[in-house]
Amino acid sequence: MRLVRMTAGRSINLALSTRGIYALRQAGLWEGMRNIIIPMKGRMMHSVAGELTFQPYGKNETEVINSISRAELNIALMNAAEERGATIHFDRRCTGYDLRTGAIQLRNELTDEETTSEAGVVIACDGSASAIRTEMLKLSRFNLSQQYLDYGYKELTIPADDEGKHQLETHALHIWPRGNHMLIALPNIDGTFACILFLPFEGADSFASLTTQTQVVTFFESRFPDAARLMPLLADNYFSNPTGAMVTIKCSPWHVEGRAMLLGDAAHAIVPFFGQGLNCGFEDCTYLMELLDKHGPNWTLVFGEFESERKVNADAIADMAIENFTEMRDRVADSRFLFRKKVELALEAKYPQLFVPKYAMVTFHRIPYSVALARGAVQDRILSELCEHVDRVEDLDWRQADQLIRQALTPLEICP
Ligand SMILES: Cc1cc2nc3c(=O)[nH]c(=O)nc-3n(C[C@H](O)[C@H](O)[C@H](O)COP(=O)(O)OP(=O)(O)OC[C@H]3O[C@@H](n4cnc5c(N)ncnc54)[C@H](O)[C@@H]3O)c2cc1C
Repeated sequence: MRLVRMTAGRSINLALSTRGIYALRQAGLWEGMRNIIIPMKGRMMHSVAGELTFQPYGKNETEVINSISRAELNIALMNAAEERGATIHFDRRCTGYDLRTGAIQLRNELTDEETTSEAGVVIACDGSASAIRTEMLKLSRFNLSQQYLDYGYKELTIPADDEGKHQLETHALHIWPRGNHMLIALPNIDGTFACILFLPFEGADSFASLTTQTQVVTFFESRFPDAARLMPLLADNYFSNPTGAMVTIKCSPWHVEGRAMLLGDAAHAIVPFFGQGLNCGFEDCTYLMELLDKHGPNWTLVFGEFESERKVNADAIADMAIENFTEMRDRVADSRFLFRKKVELALEAKYPQLFVPKYAMVTFHRIPYSVALARGAVQDRILSELCEHVDRVEDLDWRQADQLIRQALTPLEICP
């Protein structure tokens, strides 16, 4: 990435939030990243008629998510790793791993030369199609589930205007929610927006049904007309960029005794709708470092404790990410949903230790994901009861709210 410019089609930017920022701070890297992020204060929903509705993500201006360039982030991480003495071997593909001896096979992608490395300990961060995980299938009682969505994604671009500025509100994540399909756009620091189109693979209005330039342009002009006007290269981008698939991976164990451990997407790939895959991977690093501080390089102990602390939380964010897909493509356009969001913020203002919206627990705090999932379900029931016959926050029955909240929720431990 330090040599080759990234182009659309490979996820140009990511939403970085509290868990990722905490890990970067611990590594002393966050301050240096401020010039490669754009804070996004909320969702900007675009209706077919071009009406805009802004919905803040959090309770104040500090609760934002940050659009960060994937390439710039990787470059900063690689530079920092090298400054601290790491050696990066590029173009070496892991093609095998001996579960018994810990030897790792590598193929030089440029010369096809095969080598074996007698690694003492392997931390496998080789993503959702992990080669080490594939080898772990040979372990007796290795559990693996992979669940693909029927939807794919494609990256597109909204260019900057003639002065290099953003053509849509800069500090927002833009969403065009349309039921069974959706377009989103995140700002880049160069004035462009990286857009992602989510569509079913098959059926009407699907990647399979959009096969000509005219079909693509007509589809966009009828579903996302305000975005289509800003995308002069839409049809070219559409056909030159790949269509990606989205998968949820759950597996166990994550480690082979004290010899190897999966981390990040290799252990727990999730769909991108909560903007948490990278954040969760960075949080893995926070936990791993804490355990190494606690136990030293007693890898069997460290890996075992790591998995028992993280697995339940990785499973929880995987489930919440799938749930959030329906919310983003469907419910954000619904007035009752927007009202419930307002009620959530009002409840949080009154009960900051007791009622923290699920989105905030996941995005703005380091509350374990499994706690966010469980409390989110309880809070959902409370919200349904409180909102049942009410259309305005002023009309909420605060006595009922007080009773329901104090009965069902204990104070939260809010970590820094
Ligand atoms: C469309 C999309 C949007 C997303 N948006 C967000 C977001 O907004 N916020 C967020 O937090 N997350 C987001 N994610 C998720 C995020 O990209 C991943 O969770 C994150 O990149 C995982 O990091 P990782 O290091 O575990 O794996 P990866 O980023 O996949 O890195 C794996 C690395 O291993 C290398 N590798 C793979 N196989 C081998 C092999 N056999 N040998 C050697 N090397 C190998 C790869 O080249 C790569 O460098 C998104 C994902 C997608 C697809």
